[in-house]
Amino acid sequence: MISRLEQGLYIAFCLFAILGVTKLQAEPIFVNEQPVELRQFPTQYYVDNSLQMPLSRVMFQTFQADDNQIALGIDNRRVWNRMQICNTSTQPRTLYLHHPFAYHTEQIEFFQLENEQIIRQYYLNMDQPETFEFLVGEVAVFSFILSPDTCSQLYLQTQTYSHQWFKLDIFDQKHSLSALVGSRTDIALLVGMLMALIIYNFLLYISARQRENIFYSLYLISGAVWIALSYGLFANFFGWVGLAVMQLHMSLVCMPIFLILFMMSIFETRQNYAIEHKALMFMLTLLLLELVYSVFDIIGAMKIASSLAALMMLVTISVSISLWRKGNPLAPLFLIGHILFVIFNGLSVLYYKGILDFHYITCYGVGIGITLEALMLAFILSYRLKILEGLKESQEKLKQQASTDAMTNLYNRRYFNDNAASQIKASLAKQQPVCILLLDIDKFKRINDGYGHQTGDEVIVDCAQTILNNLRASDLAARFGGEEFILLLPSCPLAQAEQIAQKIRNSVKQNKIVSFVGHELTYTVSIGITQITELTAGSSVEDFIHQADKALYQAKEQGRDRICCYSANDALMEIAGARI
Ligand code: GH3
Ligand code: MG
Ligand code: MG
Repeated sequence: MISRLEQGLYIAFCLFAILGVTKLQAEPIFVNEQPVELRQFPTQYYVDNSLQMPLSRVMFQTFQADDNQIALGIDNRRVWNRMQICNTSTQPRTLYLHHPFAYHTEQIEFFQLENEQIIRQYYLNMDQPETFEFLVGEVAVFSFILSPDTCSQLYLQTQTYSHQWFKLDIFDQKHSLSALVGSRTDIALLVGMLMALIIYNFLLYISARQRENIFYSLYLISGAVWIALSYGLFANFFGWVGLAVMQLHMSLVCMPIFLILFMMSIFETRQNYAIEHKALMFMLTLLLLELVYSVFDIIGAMKIASSLAALMMLVTISVSISLWRKGNPLAPLFLIGHILFVIFNGLSVLYYKGILDFHYITCYGVGIGITLEALMLAFILSYRLKILEGLKESQEKLKQQASTDAMTNLYNRRYFNDNAASQIKASLAKQQPVCILLLDIDKFKRINDGYGHQTGDEVIVDCAQTILNNLRASDLAARFGGEEFILLLPSCPLAQAEQIAQKIRNSVKQNKIVSFVGHELTYTVSIGITQITELTAGSSVEDFIHQADKALYQAKEQGRDRICCYSANDALMEIAGARI
């Protein structure tokens, strides 16, 4: 029976604790016949730095008061927890002590004592599957019975591989079951979101072939792996626990590596920002060294991981602020996403170091930070894609402008010179002859002089349009000079080229141009043709143009408004003239 006097004594103990006096007994937790769902209750802890002190000695050590929110950093690997729990009902109560983060520990020992005698004892070791009967998914569950009107002392020894943090729960059977059913759905949701973003980025990479999409996908993959591992999803779904699984913590080192590669790629730091690039390279080198180290000693690597993460955040934030000040359009967006990452990860770093207590946000900060940042970065990637598309469009426009004559929209002389040789070669390779036509408007100076330059321009445009209307899709037409045009007709024997020239010559004659002052005028053209059937050594496009020019000269000589064809053997032949 617990007397009022005893209860009063316990309260006095609490008061002593508040006054800074070390307690000998934990403030008791009372349960009665009511449902039990205890998440916050007074506990005490003792750090056993020797890693081997037996309970018989631990019991007499000085324990520290705690509110069941333990985060003790990397230097306190073995911690004993003590709770005093009293059953004030007249019925025995079967209760369950939950350690929800058992998956990240090395071993857990549970003791129930009554009157300083051990009445129940369990041992769970993550590397000894025969002890897994107390492991339900990622949660260690220790059942114990409280006799009526009796107090028990519970001791829980937790030894971790690296960081020490946990909080405990005490449930009755119903609440124990529901806690086990509902655990980690929030983390599964986070991982699900990251998976969606990974797929989205992978698809972006397939369509846009930008390196940063791959870096970003890899960043998210390592993030998702670490979250699934560190928040108990792997333990829950696959039963992955123990030292071997610890190796997957390498993903925590991979994550910042890919983030830095992503930053280098998206901001093009190597080309544009030398100092920032050096800072990122410095951080990348440190992280790569840690990655190599983690291959050989993952526990050791984990111990420095949170300090390195803090340094990395300092570097990445400084670089993004610097890029923002230098006017990079993506930097402010990146900074917003990255600040979210830094805030939540910073909380986690402090928590893992044992500076901040257990809290949902401190415990899951890395996951929350990554997911919020990932959403922002996904936006940046699509924004950058938009910028790149605009750049590509203007480059294409420039390229087109550089190869086109603005007045007629035909290709210009440069484009013709750059492309004629390859087209001639391609056609001859198929045993198909090629023809080059040189076309010049007759007595154009007179048009200019008689009707003005503007009307002259209209005639040039009209001539260009007429040429285009009579060409095949494969033909190449360019404005060669003022009122002179050059045509390259691949896979076209001389007879067919003559027909095309005739069609142009006849069409041009039928066109009526109305001058600036309303006069109607017509014009004619002369055309010189040369046929290319083979490429002899030393022959060039200029030679063929020269041949066509000779034929054109002949056409002009013979009275204009006619077509002449160049022949190597005979004299120049007039194909069709004004008389036809
Ligand atoms: P021919 O029959 O012998 O070719 O006589 P032509 O008067 O046409 O002689 P030529 O080919 O030498 O004259 C070309 C003239 O075209 C000279 C130049 O003033 C004029 N010209 C050159 N480019 C332009 C242009 O863009 N617009 C206009 N309106 N005139 C141009
Ligand atoms: Mg002319
Ligand atoms: Mg001319």
